[in-house]
Amino acid sequence: MIDQKKVKEILFALGADLCGIASMDRFTDAPKGYHPLDVFPFCKSVISFGCRFPVGTLHCSSPIPYTRARNSITPKMDALALDFCIEMEKHQILCVPVPTNESQWDTNTGRWRGLVSQKHAAQAAGLGSIGRHSLLITPEFGSMLWLGMVLCAQEFPPDEMKPPLCDHCGRCVDACPVNALENLEIKQQTCYGFAFGDDPGTQTWRIACHACRDICPYNLGSQNSFSGRGRA
Ligand code: SF4
Ligand code: SF4
Repeated sequence: MIDQKKVKEILFALGADLCGIASMDRFTDAPKGYHPLDVFPFCKSVISFGCRFPVGTLHCSSPIPYTRARNSITPKMDALALDFCIEMEKHQILCVPVPTNESQWDTNTGRWRGLVSQKHAAQAAGLGSIGRHSLLITPEFGSMLWLGMVLCAQEFPPDEMKPPLCDHCGRCVDACPVNALENLEIKQQTCYGFAFGDDPGTQTWRIACHACRDICPYNLGSQNSFSGRGRA
């Protein structure tokens, strides 16, 4: 018998640092086509999990360590979701892994999207709350967490949602070099165009900007308090 406690035990054993469960009534605002039921019509629970991201990469003069960590953690999250689904199916519970990153082009908005929004699922599952910079903030790891998700055909009691952590100080808005945060909804293509792509000098694909992540006072969380480096 799998209950919500066992679900979390399995995810922690597979390497997750945080996990939570969301009920379907928390997705009523999902855009058409991006609701969990649009992906998996038998979905009764959404299980969200996160793995911590190395804080040291924020302190590097080269963008390569941050870029490589991000490119390495992406398949790790997908593999974790896959292994969890297989484990659940051994207990006769159907589960579907959702890719961790944006995986399809949305012709309506002209941008890449995830099949279901990872950060909204994580917020609905009680992992944290979405800040003004459009990233999830968790009490334990701030925004230094990568997210994964599984859609599950079994209903589990949902976790409590967290109160908002962002205090709207505006530092992330001011820190963005291309004003991608000036509106309440992030200008995603403006951010992507500036932050992602080949370095013009070295022709190496890299992530050139994470200023909004760096500047947020809540970026590290309670479990990432490094002596003398409380804030990136
Ligand atoms: S990553 Fe950089 S460009 Fe994108 S929103 Fe944050 S500060 Fe702006
Ligand atoms: S920098 Fe300030 S406004 Fe931006 S996400 Fe953090 S707390 Fe919110």
